Amino acid sequence: MSDLILAADLGGTNLRMAAVDSVGHPHNITKRPVPKGVSPAGLIDLVEEMSSLCCDGLHGEVRALGFTAPSPIQLDFDGVLTKLPNLGSVTGMNFKRDLEDLFKLPVFMENDATAAAIGENWIGASRDVQNSVCVTLGTGIGGGIIINGEPLRGPDGIGGEIGHITVEPNGRPCKCGSIGCIEEYASATAITRMAVEFGMNVANAGEVYEAWQTGDEKAESVFASMGRYLGITLAGLANALNPEMLVICGGVTAGWDAFSHHVTAEIEKRAYPAAAKRAVVARCGLGDNAGIIGAARSAFLRGSI
Ligand SMILES: [Zn+2]
Repeated sequence: MSDLILAADLGGTNLRMAAVDSVGHPHNITKRPVPKGVSPAGLIDLVEEMSSLCCDGLHGEVRALGFTAPSPIQLDFDGVLTKLPNLGSVTGMNFKRDLEDLFKLPVFMENDATAAAIGENWIGASRDVQNSVCVTLGTGIGGGIIINGEPLRGPDGIGGEIGHITVEPNGRPCKCGSIGCIEEYASATAITRMAVEFGMNVANAGEVYEAWQTGDEKAESVFASMGRYLGITLAGLANALNPEMLVICGGVTAGWDAFSHHVTAEIEKRAYPAAAKRAVVARCGLGDNAGIIGAARSAFLRGSI
């Protein structure tokens, strides 16, 4: 009987779950919206309901749970969710302890973007490399760093928070409390905002990309600007960490051909030539499943399964 991890990616909008086997294949991928204002008990009920769907028809034994949360999570994380900007209604709940009580299994947690980096490094774009940086471009910007094959979590779980590196010293205020963070210049939210500032009539980053595909010059300016800011950030990381690979993940990668060449041009311009040559810029290999696959890998390793 094969070993399985019940893995989940908890976001502000959706909860994604699957039963992941020891080669990283996610079975019965299930996605549900997280109700606005959900109570801690409601969230646990949702996990329980989805877990039975994920395990349905599988011949294997669930040995542990692997969960991500959009929150700083250090290795000795006690399970209390404190900093969840989009899930304020469950602030203070001990998610890890509640899940352990329900399932009678060990629960291992990771920051969502760190989990994506672990997943990509296991069987995705950065497999077989020892040093990689994964940046997730969505509503916000998340980051995960793998050094010598190990995720960098830091003593406070903040390791890899690439989204809050400053790119404009006098720039836009960011919800983290700083100003001019890359999140304000290269996330999906930022792409939409810049497009509107350029006078485009768009509601989301996907529409900016659609305009780019028709040759719209304003859309080209938006992606050139966004790609340049992202390249500045990644050039700094290429110099600081000398990784073999820089993986770009998240919904914004749907517009890859609009911005990726601006990113690589900026890295070539700014990073040490050897660091720029070494750091291959790659598009994510696992798409939306990177988080659950990485959460499972983390649970397999930390649980010695
Ligand atoms: Zn910030």
